Amino acid sequence: MEPDEPDRPLEAILQVIDPEVSAAIDGELARQRSTLDLVASESVPPRAVLEAQGSILTAKYADGYPGNREYDTCEWIDEIERLAIERAKALFGADHANVQPYSGASANAAVLHALCEPGDAVLGFDFAHGGHPTQCAAETFAGRNYRAFAYHVRRDDRLVDMDEVETLARRHRPKVLFAGWSCYSRHLDFARFREIADEVGAKLVVDMAHFAGLVAAKVHPDPIRFADACTMTVHKTLGGARGGAVLCRRELAERVDAAVYPGEQGCPLPHVIAAKAVTFKLAGTDAFRERMERTLEGARTLAQVLLEAEDRTRAHVVTGGTDVHQLLVDLAPGGREAWATLRRLNNIGISANAIALAYDPLVEPACSGLRFGAMALASRGFGREQFAEVGAIISDALANGGEDPDGSLAGRVGELTSEMPLYRYLG
Ligand SMILES: *Cc1c(COP(=O)(O)O)cnc(C)c1O
Repeated sequence: MEPDEPDRPLEAILQVIDPEVSAAIDGELARQRSTLDLVASESVPPRAVLEAQGSILTAKYADGYPGNREYDTCEWIDEIERLAIERAKALFGADHANVQPYSGASANAAVLHALCEPGDAVLGFDFAHGGHPTQCAAETFAGRNYRAFAYHVRRDDRLVDMDEVETLARRHRPKVLFAGWSCYSRHLDFARFREIADEVGAKLVVDMAHFAGLVAAKVHPDPIRFADACTMTVHKTLGGARGGAVLCRRELAERVDAAVYPGEQGCPLPHVIAAKAVTFKLAGTDAFRERMERTLEGARTLAQVLLEAEDRTRAHVVTGGTDVHQLLVDLAPGGREAWATLRRLNNIGISANAIALAYDPLVEPACSGLRFGAMALASRGFGREQFAEVGAIISDALANGGEDPDGSLAGRVGELTSEMPLYRYLG
C-alpha cells in the first residue's frame, strides 16, 4: 500500500487527497520563509510541538479531568494531561494549572465564569488603549455577561493610569480586576494592582497571554505571586501549542476547573494538550531562556534604531522604548495611516500589525499605530546584528513613505531571510 493511493482516504497523504489545501499550506510555508515576521503574537513552533499537535490523539474523546472522565480508556490521555499540568505548575511556580482552554479568549471566559456571577462588575484594560477585548469590551462575553468597566493609559506618558484603576475599582467594586495587555510595551505594576484588588475585594487576574514566555524564562516581573489567577496563551511568547491555560491559587482550583469544563467547554483537545506538555518542557530549558533574552534584546535593538531615526521617519516609538518583546510606533507625527503603511511594508517582505493607539487621531478602521514584535525572528535565529538591520530597513522604508522603487529594501529583506532559513527540516 502506497501513501499516494487516492482510493484509500484514510491512508493517502494530504497532497493526494486534497491538492488544494496542500498547495495552500506550501504557499504559506514559502510566504513565512520569505517574510520577516514582526507580528508580536507569532512565533515558530518547534517541530516536536507540531508533531504532538498533529498526532493520533486528535481522535480521542476525554471529557473531564485526569482520573475523572466521562469516557473509558483514557489512561494515556490522563498521563499526557498530568504531564502538562505538572510541568505548567513547576514552570510558573503555581498551585494549580488547567491546561484545557482552547485559546486565550477561552481562558478569560472561564476565569470570569469561575469568579463572577452574571451582572457582576469587572474591570479591565481598554482594548483601544492596549488591552484585549475579552477583558471588558462590550461586544465580547465579558461586556455582555458582566458590567464591564475599562481603565486607560495616561495621555502624557502612555502608561497605565493606576490612579484611574484605583478610582474605578473603588467606584464599581469589581469582582475581577484584569492586568494584562496585547498592545503595550512596558511592565505593569503588579504590586499596585494587588493592593487595589485587596482594597475593593476583587480577584486579580493577570492576563499574561502575551508575556507568559517572558515570565517562564524569568526575564519579566513575576505576576504569579501577586495574582489570584493568571490566564495565558501557549502559542505567543511561550512559542508552542495553539491554545490557552489558566493558573490559579489552590483555593480557586475547583471553581476554575468547573468553569472550564463543563462550564465553558466540552471535550478537551488531547493532541493540543500533548503539544502544551511539550511546550512547557521546552520552556524550562536554557535554550528557551536564551531565546527569550535574544527576543528582548531584539525588541530593544529595534526600538533603539527606530528612535535614532525618528527625525527621518517622523514615526515615534511610544514610551521611548520597550521592556518586553514588542514595541509600538506612532505614525501620527508624519500624518501617515497605519494600514496603508503596513501594506507597503508587506510589499518589501515585512509583516507586522496595524493598530489603533490610545488617543489615536484617526477614526477606525483607519489608525496610526504599528506594532512590531521580536519573538518570531529571535526564534528563527536572529541576534542583535540582524535586528539592527531589520530596524534599519523599517526606518528606511518609513523615511521613504514605504516606497521601494529600486527594490533595494526587498533585497535586504531577502538577504536576511536566506541567511536565517526557516523550518530547514521541511526541505
Ligand atoms: C491574544 C490575547 C488573548 C486571546 O488569546 P487567543 O488565543 O487569541 O484567543 C487574550 N488576552 C490577551 C491579553 C491577548 O493578547
